[in-house]
Amino acid sequence: MAAAPDSFGDGKDAFRWRINLEEVFTVQSCYYRFFSKLSGPPIIANVVKASTYIWKVQAPTKTLFFGWRLIHDRLATKDQLYKKGILDFTEMNCVFCSVEEERLSHLLGGCQVVKEIWLKVLEWLGFITDFSLVDFITFPFIYDKVNSLAKRKIIGAIWLATCWHIWLICNAIIFKNEKFSFLDCMSEIMFSSWKWLLSSGKIANNCNFLVWRLLPLTCFE
Ligand SMILES: [Zn+2]
Repeated sequence: MAAAPDSFGDGKDAFRWRINLEEVFTVQSCYYRFFSKLSGPPIIANVVKASTYIWKVQAPTKTLFFGWRLIHDRLATKDQLYKKGILDFTEMNCVFCSVEEERLSHLLGGCQVVKEIWLKVLEWLGFITDFSLVDFITFPFIYDKVNSLAKRKIIGAIWLATCWHIWLICNAIIFKNEKFSFLDCMSEIMFSSWKWLLSSGKIANNCNFLVWRLLPLTCFE
């Protein structure tokens, strides 16, 4: 019988973990090795920042999930439904202005009708140094621009309530044939944000709805 070639050696067969220098299996080395394959395209840093922040907003869980989906552009807006073949291109018009195509950026301030809501809510918030309409609309991405933690909590809840009610009205117009009412929308935003913050103890107990409607930023403890 021919001798085995020297290169095979005399040792027993064994598995080797060649992903790290120590050649020892660790969950961490496995995670780093496969992360790029498992996680899909890299998420830009400010989306990570905003989607981490959203879970700190004082609101019901279903609304927080809505906020998370909004940040990741995963709401069923008409442009998304068109891409999936659910809507025809003739059905793409925004229900608020009936002029432009409904997409997330349009619903959150690009639309002239919706922009009026954002402007009114910002006016209700009152003056905040170096805080523009764009800052308000993109609040989860720039929340650390507001130094006061108490103000952040209030603005965060009001931001989410604004997005939430714009979205609910949009769906009510489409599916229930309801009419858009600017005043009703403002009342819903004010009431929801007040209710969320009050139930979580983030605003003063003596902050009744009347005070909240007048000066929301004075209501924190
Ligand atoms: Zn529009």
